[in-house]
Amino acid sequence: MFPNDSEIWGDDADGDELKEECGVVGIHAPDQDAARLAFFALYTLQHRGQEAAGMASVDHGVAHVHKGQGLVPAVFNEDNLSTLKGEFAIGHTRYSTTGGTGLRNAQPHVIETIDGPLGIAHNGNLVNAHILRRQLLERGVGLQTSSDTEVMIHLLTGGSGDWMNRIKMLMAQAEGAFALTIITRDAVFGVRDPWGFRPLVLGKFEGGYLLASETCAFSAIGAELVHELAPGEICRLDADGYRIEQGAVPKQRAFCTFEQIYFSRPDSIYEGKLVHSTRQRLGRELAREAPVDADVVVAVPDSGTPHAVGFAQEAGIPYTEGFTKNRYVGRTFIEPTQELRESKVRMKFNPLADNLAGKRVVMVDDSIVRGTTSGPLVQMLRDAGASEVHVRVACPAITDPCYMGVDMAAREDLIAANMDVESIAEHIGADSLAFLSIEALMRGLETQEGYCNACFTGVYPFEEERFVQLTLKTKEQFASVWGD
Ligand code: SF4
Repeated sequence: MFPNDSEIWGDDADGDELKEECGVVGIHAPDQDAARLAFFALYTLQHRGQEAAGMASVDHGVAHVHKGQGLVPAVFNEDNLSTLKGEFAIGHTRYSTTGGTGLRNAQPHVIETIDGPLGIAHNGNLVNAHILRRQLLERGVGLQTSSDTEVMIHLLTGGSGDWMNRIKMLMAQAEGAFALTIITRDAVFGVRDPWGFRPLVLGKFEGGYLLASETCAFSAIGAELVHELAPGEICRLDADGYRIEQGAVPKQRAFCTFEQIYFSRPDSIYEGKLVHSTRQRLGRELAREAPVDADVVVAVPDSGTPHAVGFAQEAGIPYTEGFTKNRYVGRTFIEPTQELRESKVRMKFNPLADNLAGKRVVMVDDSIVRGTTSGPLVQMLRDAGASEVHVRVACPAITDPCYMGVDMAAREDLIAANMDVESIAEHIGADSLAFLSIEALMRGLETQEGYCNACFTGVYPFEEERFVQLTLKTKEQFASVWGD
């Protein structure tokens, strides 16, 4: 049965938005405090996770760690930054997809080993974490968190040879999405999984190198792009600069399409192209594929804006602002009443009536997940005087869940898995509704292959049923021990 709004809103004001997974950074800055630079880089990756933030530095073989719940500027201040000494640092912004939301699961995860400190920050989700976790427990390894990051750190310590070799051994065992930064006594490593689900880029600044989830982190410290890590690559930063090795044989390339559609910041470079420009191309494809007679094009801000601008340019219809967005509405821990839950969309968006009255409006959004936000937004446009509301969505209908680290709901919660396009249009009160086709999506990305489209097609780079079982078992097992 399709859930009602109050069942799925929970305490999240952004109930129909996909949740970014995590952001990672890694820095080597000889003769500088790398953590101070990492702080600014992390700040720019805030959009990838707002639940917790953390950094670890290493100074002459000694590790320093600070983590906390909340946004980057709330977690770090001059006092705790001054304790994070050393020329090596890694950092993490967290949105939990595996494991609970508590501080225990905040990253980086750091331990002491016979070879000095070892820390790891992870963006992604291991689909075989349950199996690996069981194997570690049977070997007598105690685990203190419910996150798959801890599993990886123990796989690293259980390996043999130098850290580069141990990372290769880890890559041979870990299945799923993982973009990692790893800190040791004398190096920082970046690792991209053999499918390439999550991005990882290498940049250079005056006096050092950094690794980050996205290139938007470079601007904060004046860095320039050197290399987008390819699937299966490892990059080592140390006193000799940087070195890149192939850590695992690349599998069928499966970059996450949603990095392009929604997750990545529009000013990031992905696959050599500005994400903002890619989104405008998707909007143009949408206008060609699903044209409509209308007076104005509006976006669901902010993520739908570049798509809407592209749509308007291609359609020759004026673009205007249809909504003001309250950018300060975030997660609340105050339990709202049922009535207030249902008005949360109104807390976040307000229509600009002068731009809408008597107009036939095209409302462009980047995606529809559960369909809980679209209906109230369409109603708002009508209440503001729009004579018609046509909804255009800059990606295909989401019909299948993601097991690679994106918290996009179970199949029964996905509106397009339960209704056809006409029924969804009726459900959200739109005069018409259209989603971008897969073919047009690929044209907009200027490629024919190499992207994971599993949430649109149900065709996974792995065997899906196995994922479901693993994911369920892992959640059950974690909950039975940790309760979160
Ligand atoms: S299933 Fe969708 S959200 Fe998940 S990795 Fe693939 S494209 Fe990205």
